[in-house]
Amino acid sequence: MKSVLDTERDLKEMLLLIKKIINTDAVALFMLEGDSLVLKASTEDKYSKSAYHGEGYLLSVIKGKKSLIQSRFKYSLFDIENTASKDAGSSLCVPVFDGNVSVGVLEMVSSKESAFGAHEEDIAAGFAGQIGQTIGKARSYLEVERFAKGFKSLHEASRSFGISLRVEEIAEKLVELVFGMVNSSAVGFFMPDKGELRVVAKKGFEPEDESFYSKGTYFDLIVKNKHPLHFSHLEGKRGVYPFRIPDARTFLGIPIMSSGNDVLGILAVVSREANAISSFHGHFLSIMADQAALSMTNARLHHEVEKLAMTDGLTRLYNHKHFYERLGDEFQRYERFPHPISLLVMDIDYFKKINDVHGHPAGDAVLLGLAAMLKKTLRGIDIIARYGGEEFAAVLLNTETPRAKKIAERLRVKVMNTPFAVDGNDLTIALSIGVATYPHDAENKEDLINKADRALYYAKENGRNQVCLWKDIEGK
Ligand code: GH3
Ligand code: MG
Ligand code: MG
Repeated sequence: MKSVLDTERDLKEMLLLIKKIINTDAVALFMLEGDSLVLKASTEDKYSKSAYHGEGYLLSVIKGKKSLIQSRFKYSLFDIENTASKDAGSSLCVPVFDGNVSVGVLEMVSSKESAFGAHEEDIAAGFAGQIGQTIGKARSYLEVERFAKGFKSLHEASRSFGISLRVEEIAEKLVELVFGMVNSSAVGFFMPDKGELRVVAKKGFEPEDESFYSKGTYFDLIVKNKHPLHFSHLEGKRGVYPFRIPDARTFLGIPIMSSGNDVLGILAVVSREANAISSFHGHFLSIMADQAALSMTNARLHHEVEKLAMTDGLTRLYNHKHFYERLGDEFQRYERFPHPISLLVMDIDYFKKINDVHGHPAGDAVLLGLAAMLKKTLRGIDIIARYGGEEFAAVLLNTETPRAKKIAERLRVKVMNTPFAVDGNDLTIALSIGVATYPHDAENKEDLINKADRALYYAKENGRNQVCLWKDIEGK
C-alpha cells in the first residue's frame, strides 16, 4: 500500500505527463474539501493557492460533472511563467470522479487562445479517471490507517483500563481513546445518578450542567433498551442534547453493561459529518465498551470490598481499625491546618440488661437503631465509628470543647428520649459520653483517645447517662 505522500508525488508526475502530452502551459488539480476547493497538485510551483478559493467556474465543473472549455480565457489570476501574453489564453477543465461522486477538477491552462478541443478533452478525461482511482486508493489507505489505529487503541484500552481502579479514571481513558480513534466531534461518558445522567468524562464539548435529565433524549432509549443507538444522517439543527454541537449528523450511543445487566454508563460519540462511524468502527467501539464494562465492574467490586473492610458488619459505621486510621489522617492534617479535634467516646448504659431480658437479636436491633440515630444526629460529621461492642466514637473536626459538649449533650438527651421499637417492645437506652479535645487536653492521638476514655469511665462511675469532659475531671 502506497503512502499518502507517494500519492502526492504520483499526482504531480501525472500532471507533468498531461502537460507534455497535451502540450499546454500549466496543469493543476483541485479537490473539494467541505465547501472549498483545495489545490492538491500542480505542474507550476508558482500556482497561487488562495487565488482559487471558491472560483466559480471550477466549482461549476464539479457540480455539473461536465467538462468546460474556455477558448478566450483571461488567466491573469494564474501566474504562469513563459506565457506570451497576460491578457488572454484558453483553459480546459474536466471533473474528477471518486466512484460516482465528482470530487475535484483537473484544469489545463494555455497562454494561447483556443488551445483545447475534443481531442484534448478526451485525453484529459482519461487522466482524470486515473487520478480518481489514485485518490480512491489514497482514501482507502487512510481508512486502513484508521483501522490500524483502532486496533492499537483497543490494545491500549485493555491494558490501561485493567490497571485502573476508579470508574471515573476508566471513563476518562475510554473517552480519550475513542476520540482519537473515530472521526468524531465530541465524545462523552455518562452515568445514571439519582434519576439523572452525570457527565463523567467529556471531550470536544462543554455541557451546560454536570448532570442532566435524560427523559425524552436518546440516552433514555439506550438505558431502557440496553442496546446501542446509531444515527448516521441526523437533520436537527440544534444537535444532540447535551452536546451543544449544532448540525450534528452522526450519533452513536453504547450502553456499558455490568455483569448483572445493569447500565453502568453510556459512551456517546457525536460527529458533524454524516455517516462518520463505519460499521467496522462501530464494532471496535462495542469491543472497547465491553472492555470498559469489565474494568468498571472490577473497579466497583474493588470499591465495595474496600468499603466492607472499613466498616462494621452490623451497623455499617466505620470499624475500629478504620476509625484509628482516619483519626491518624486528621492528626497529620493538623500539621498543615491546625484546627481543634474533639473526640466523643460513647458507651450504652446497662446494655447487658437489654440482651438478658430481650435476647441478643433485640440487642442487635437496638445497636442498629442507635447507629442510624448517630448518623442522623451527627449529620455532616465525617468520622463516626463503632468503637467496640456497644461503644461508639465520633471525631468532631474543627470543634472546640464547648461545642463538642453541646453536640454530645444534644445526642445524649435524644437517645434517652427516643425508644427503639423492637418486637413490639419500646426499648429505651441511655448513653454515657466522654469528651476530650486536641491539642487542649492531649499531646497526641493515643493520648486523646485515652483522655476521652477516662472521661467516659468517670461518667460511668458517677451515675451514667451523662456527658463528661476531660478538662472537668482532670486531677479528680
Ligand atoms: P455499662 O456500660 O453501663 O457499665 O453496662 P453494660 O451492661 O453496657 O456493660 P458492658 O459495657 O461491660 O457490657 C457490654 C455488653 O454489650 C456485653 C455484651 O453482651 C453486649 N454486646 C456487645 N456487643 C454486642 C453486639 O454486637 N450485640 C449485642 N446484642 N450485644 C452486644
Ligand atoms: Mg462497654
Ligand atoms: Mg455499656
